[in-house]
Amino acid sequence: MNIPVETLKSIGPQKKVKLEKLGISTVGDLIRHFPRDYEDRSKMEKIAEVELNTPVLVCGRIEARVKGNYIRGKKSTFKLLVRDDTGSVEVIFFNMNYGEQIFQIDEEVVLYGRITENHGKRQMVHPDFSKNEKTATGILPIYPLTAGISTGELRKWMRSGFAYLSSFEESMPSATMTRNRLCDGIFALENIHFPKDYESLKIARYRLVFEELMMLQTGLLMIKNQLQEGKTGLVFDASIKIEEFVKTIPFALTGAQLRTIDEIEKDMLSGKIMNRLVQGDVGSGKTIVAAAAIYKCIKSGYQAVMMAPTEILARQHYEGLSQTFAIGDGSKRAGSHLEPSPKAPHKVGFLSGSLSAKDKRQVLADLEAGNIDLLIGTHAVIQEHVTFKNLGLVVTDEQHRFGVNQRAVLAEKGNNPHMLVMTATPIPRTLALILYGDLDISLIDEMPPGRKEIITYSTSATKRKRAYDFVAKEIDQGRQAYVVTPLIEDSEAESMADVKSVQTIYEDLLCLYPKYNIALLHGEMKQKEKDHIMERFKNGEIHILVATVVIEVGINVPNASVMVIENAERFGLAQMHQLRGRVGRGEYQSYCILISELKTEVAKERADIMKESADGFVIAEKDLELRGPGEFFGTRQHGVPELKIANLIKHMKILKMVQVEANILLKEDPLLQKPEHKKLLTSMKEMFKNAEKFNL
Ligand code: ADP
Ligand code: MG
Repeated sequence: MNIPVETLKSIGPQKKVKLEKLGISTVGDLIRHFPRDYEDRSKMEKIAEVELNTPVLVCGRIEARVKGNYIRGKKSTFKLLVRDDTGSVEVIFFNMNYGEQIFQIDEEVVLYGRITENHGKRQMVHPDFSKNEKTATGILPIYPLTAGISTGELRKWMRSGFAYLSSFEESMPSATMTRNRLCDGIFALENIHFPKDYESLKIARYRLVFEELMMLQTGLLMIKNQLQEGKTGLVFDASIKIEEFVKTIPFALTGAQLRTIDEIEKDMLSGKIMNRLVQGDVGSGKTIVAAAAIYKCIKSGYQAVMMAPTEILARQHYEGLSQTFAIGDGSKRAGSHLEPSPKAPHKVGFLSGSLSAKDKRQVLADLEAGNIDLLIGTHAVIQEHVTFKNLGLVVTDEQHRFGVNQRAVLAEKGNNPHMLVMTATPIPRTLALILYGDLDISLIDEMPPGRKEIITYSTSATKRKRAYDFVAKEIDQGRQAYVVTPLIEDSEAESMADVKSVQTIYEDLLCLYPKYNIALLHGEMKQKEKDHIMERFKNGEIHILVATVVIEVGINVPNASVMVIENAERFGLAQMHQLRGRVGRGEYQSYCILISELKTEVAKERADIMKESADGFVIAEKDLELRGPGEFFGTRQHGVPELKIANLIKHMKILKMVQVEANILLKEDPLLQKPEHKKLLTSMKEMFKNAEKFNL
């Protein structure tokens, strides 16, 4: 199967180059170029009885053939009259020079195409034709193509490639095949391309999907084992009890928070490296859980680092955790009136791209000297020149866009530090096992008590004024509001014609409500400006913050009670849920107002889901249903190898079975060293070869 594809007859140097564009360079690649769809040519129909204007398969005898010209002789036509026992059809080809060589009177010909009726005459223009009923009929594959390669060619080459199937090595261990009722590989490959019937196609596809997911899952599990293999995790001081920290928190932790903290503490004492994902909906209280882990780490004499995806969020954590752990960098920051915590004079540092060179140098020096116990920052903390004295714990917040590789870079900065990944992205567990296959998972599935449900309204753009009058009422009662829009600037693109930019909305509101302080915030503003505005919003000096999705994650301003989402039809449900999570963080009844332009069924359904559900997981699943998996998350972002036939959402049921099977297999043979697992191991390595974020 590793033979170059040009070994096959009729694949020359030119076709070879084109095939490479489809990722095909060996016969094995060719055979794993799976159809994207099928054409049903299994039923031969009668010419006089076919349904018009839909592709049909007919067969008949050539009764007549005529060559003709049109457009002053520049173009030619070639016509056939083909008859079966019910009637005849005129077959027309344009500019077919060799017609007379191909078609002979009285020959049988099989035709596939649409039949139309023109003044009572049945016609077929440029049908697929064949004189061999055997290769022209059946359920035929339709392939993903590239310029210069046709479906016909691929079908032909596929058939020649099948000659090599005898050298196919079965990758699925026989016990796996029996347990999961998989057909053998050769049957699967033959029938995925040229299925005998629909039942065989189903059996074949099931096997190939299972196989692909099996390689993916075992691969990820092996990476996880390998990450832990031979490495001992730091064992933190057993006499440091997180419980002591928990006692100092001004509120009672939820059961889910306590359970998660417990799992973390166990990991930290186990001698293994912790690789834990904490999943919890917006507002479920992940930060305090991270703080508990950090407490354990720094009290044990190690440094901790916490990374956030945006500067705003990083700064917010810096401020919050500085309070929790003591005063920050020693210097008096604007607006900082924090008393050193009596708990411990731990030093908290901040690092981001926006620091001045001088401040940066100071932080880096302090970090290396061990004068900083906890570093909080943006991606800047994983840069090369950042050196820790003794890093013991890495926390990443809302880093669902953060690959295994980046986590690995952070890990290398310490001597196998523990890892804690926190996310509010609600991913069904089965999928989390794939996307975060190398992590253990803790779920915070309980909200802190006393949270008022956020009331969600949806309205059309024409009633915008009423929506803002509602906002005004809230502000008059001392609250604050967010207004989020999808665009920074007005777009000229037609598809964006009814989308108002953040700038336009900001200006509209300034005119409408001159008595309020209204500010603008978007990602392209200077960091200093953004910080300043956030600071003022937090202090209550700004009433309405008009922003793009820069405020999507993490921001915590308990006095804000209204979230207005403009052009709600442009946002994913999960994203709106995140945005909505910016309000309802304090004691006040909070509201979310969705303003949308579209009045379609889907738009209505989306609004209904938002109104009815407050559960991120439920919303994410609906989002998946409505938008399809492609948009929900790019698996590429997660660095998962590309899949050829399996689909993580569509094949979730199979994935569940695969997960059971992968565990059985690896328990029995953790490194897949047994002879019957050799082929699985090599295929798996092949699969992960191009997945840059993994090394197997
Ligand atoms: P998220 O999980 O979205 O990161 P946060 O950690 O920002 O949530 O917590 C949201 C708010 O809830 C914070 O103000 C936090 O102090 C508060 N909080 C967290 N846990 C509890 C709890 N058990 N009881 C009451 N309030 C809590
Ligand atoms: Mg958070």
